Amino acid sequence: MTPSDIEFDLRHIWHPYTAMTNPLPIYPVVGASGVELELADGRKLVDGMSSWWAAIHGYNHPVLNQAAKIQLDQMSHVMFGGITHPPAIALCRQLVAISPLSLECVFLADSGSVAVEVALKMALQYWQAKGEKRQRILTLRHGYHGDTFGAMSVCDPDNSMHNLYKGYLPTHLFAESPQCGFDSQWDPRDIIPFRTLLEQHSGDIAAVILEPIVQGAGGMRIYHPEYLRQVRMLCDQHQILLIADEIATGFGRTGKLFACEHAEIEPDILCVGKALTGGYMTLSATLTTRKVAETISNGEAGCFMHGPTFMGNPLACAVAKASLNLLLQSPWQQRIKSIENQLKSELMPLKPHAKVADVRVLGAIGVVEMKQPVNMAELQHHFVSQGVWIRPFGKLIYLMPPYIIQPEQLSCLTKAVSGAINL
Ligand code: PMP
Repeated sequence: MTPSDIEFDLRHIWHPYTAMTNPLPIYPVVGASGVELELADGRKLVDGMSSWWAAIHGYNHPVLNQAAKIQLDQMSHVMFGGITHPPAIALCRQLVAISPLSLECVFLADSGSVAVEVALKMALQYWQAKGEKRQRILTLRHGYHGDTFGAMSVCDPDNSMHNLYKGYLPTHLFAESPQCGFDSQWDPRDIIPFRTLLEQHSGDIAAVILEPIVQGAGGMRIYHPEYLRQVRMLCDQHQILLIADEIATGFGRTGKLFACEHAEIEPDILCVGKALTGGYMTLSATLTTRKVAETISNGEAGCFMHGPTFMGNPLACAVAKASLNLLLQSPWQQRIKSIENQLKSELMPLKPHAKVADVRVLGAIGVVEMKQPVNMAELQHHFVSQGVWIRPFGKLIYLMPPYIIQPEQLSCLTKAVSGAINL
C-alpha cells in the first residue's frame, strides 16, 4: 500500500461512523492470520476485537479457507427464488438443530441489521395475519440492533440516531434498561419499568426485541438472567412475540451457545449474524417457530414479504456451515471459560482505579467502563504502539478476542488496557 492509496482512502472512502472532513486516523492492514492483524509496515497486532464479534476462529483459518475454495469451484452465487442448493440446506439444518428447540423456520439474509428488519417485519405480518393492528415494538434503553431504519428505531433513543431522523422513524416503547448485573443479587424491582410499559400498551405491542444478557454497542451492559426470564414470562402472559437479537452474543461468546440459554428461555424469533460465518463474509439468519411462520403464510399476503438478491449466498452458507462445525467440534466451552477466568483476573484489579467506573466480564467479553469518554484517536495510537488492536468507543474499552487466543496474547491485550487507563 502506497501513501497515495492512503491519501485516496482519506479523500474518497467512508469508514464506519467517520467524517469525510478530518476523519480519524486509519491503519492499513494487509493480512490477518490466527489472532494477528498485519499492518502494511510489517507490524503485527494481537486482535482484541474479532472484527466486531465475528472472527471467532481467528483469521485465515485453513478449514474455512478450504470451505470457501471448494464452494467457489462449484458456484459462488445463484438466486434463491425458485432455487435451493446444498450449502443453504446444510447450514439451515445445522441452525435448526443447534438453536432453541421451538425455532424451526430459517430466513437467510445479508447482515445483522437486515436480520433485525426481517424479525420486525415477521412480527408485524404475524399480527396482521391474525387480524390485529399491533405495530409497536417494546424494547430496552441502551439497546443496539443495527443501522437500517427499522433497526435504528429500536436502538437506544438517546445514545443513537433518533434525533437525527426524528419524525421519520416509527416511535416505539423503551423500558429502562436492566440495572442488576449478571452476578449480582436479583432485585425484583428491576423488571417493574418493563412490566409497567408492557401492561400499559399490551394491546398495541407486536413484539419485544432485546439483546439477551449482553447489551452490546449501546453500552456493553451485562444483565441478570432473571430479567430475561421475566421478560419471557410477561410476553407469554400477554401473547407478545419475543425477538432475541443474538447477532453479537450468538455462537458461544457469552459462554453459552446462545445467550438465551443463561435464562433457559426460548424466543419466538431469533436473529444471528456476525460470527455465523466465522467473520469471513456477511450473512445473517432470522429463525422463528412454525406457529409464527404458518400464521404469516396464511395471512393476507400469503407469504413473507422479503427476498434479498443475495439471499442464501452459497459461498457464505458453505463457510458458515464449516464455521459451525469448527466451533462445535472444538472445546469452545473450555476455551471461553479460560478466557473468562483470565479476563477476570487481569481486568478486575482495574476496578478501584480512580478513572474507572466499572469492570465487567462474561465469557469472552471483557469491559472496562471509564468515568469519562476516551480519546479514541489517542488510545488507538497507544494500542497500536503496544502491538494490539483494540477499538474503544465512548467510555468503553473492551475486549472480545477470537476464541483461539493464547493466554500470553490475551495478557498483551489486558496489559495494553491497563496501560491505557493510566495515559
Ligand atoms: N444487532 C446487534 C446486537 C449488533 O451488535 C449488531 C452489530 N453491531 C447488529 C444488530 C447489526 O449488525 P450488522 O452490523 O451486521 O448490520
